Amino acid sequence: MKFNVKALETVSRDFFGTYGTPKLLGSWFFSELGTQRKEDVFNALVKRCRYENNEVGFFEAVLSRLEKKADPVVIGGTEIPKLYLYALLSELFPGNRLHAVKTVGELEKIAFVRAENRACLQQVMDEFPVRLSDHVIRQSRVSEAVAKQYLPFAGELDLSGKPITFDGHFKSGVLEQMYQNRAIFLLDMACPVYCRFCFRKHKGTRKEKTPSRAHVLAAVDHVRTHPAIREILITGGEPCSTGPILTPPWAAS
Ligand code: SF4
Repeated sequence: MKFNVKALETVSRDFFGTYGTPKLLGSWFFSELGTQRKEDVFNALVKRCRYENNEVGFFEAVLSRLEKKADPVVIGGTEIPKLYLYALLSELFPGNRLHAVKTVGELEKIAFVRAENRACLQQVMDEFPVRLSDHVIRQSRVSEAVAKQYLPFAGELDLSGKPITFDGHFKSGVLEQMYQNRAIFLLDMACPVYCRFCFRKHKGTRKEKTPSRAHVLAAVDHVRTHPAIREILITGGEPCSTGPILTPPWAAS
């Protein structure tokens, strides 16, 4: 992977100058380095990783481990803090876009992954939509746990268990009611990114258009005629989302 060593060095010094505190990075990290002076942390880290005066070698070592999806990233016996790795990845793969990913090919290209069972994964993606942001893609490269949260996997086709968690409760349009005194307004089933373990992922509404103003007004009428309702939960998905691939529900007429 090509990189600009000066840019990475600047990012590193800025990062440790701002966030180089035991509270954020862990006191173990500073104990290993033998310093708590923010301005010394980067040099101390490079030295501790056995790359003293060889920043190029240090960054190459970090990036090669990231490419191999090492978790945690350890160099010369020293674990590199994840927050620092995110900062490096933000420099290497900048951006703040949202991606609606439809095919395995797109997924491999956008999220830097290699699919093993393409047919099965495509079936998952057809059934349960995939949305990612540049931010979670960067995080997925550093953390296996984050990758599991957002990247599709074959096990999603296993429908054992209770597939529809809200079955049997009152539902009308955008409104759901589980309790007499509380109503849920499902204003939008879309989110900027989709968690693979979302308890609403089975919802057909995720593939439908966002509710219209008329739907919302009908739900408000229901509340008006049911005085036992004391609380309304406005939810989704992400009902307040705006962005290149999302439309706020109340924007629809
Ligand atoms: S509703 Fe919540 S859990 Fe489900 S995909 Fe959206 S953010 Fe994730």
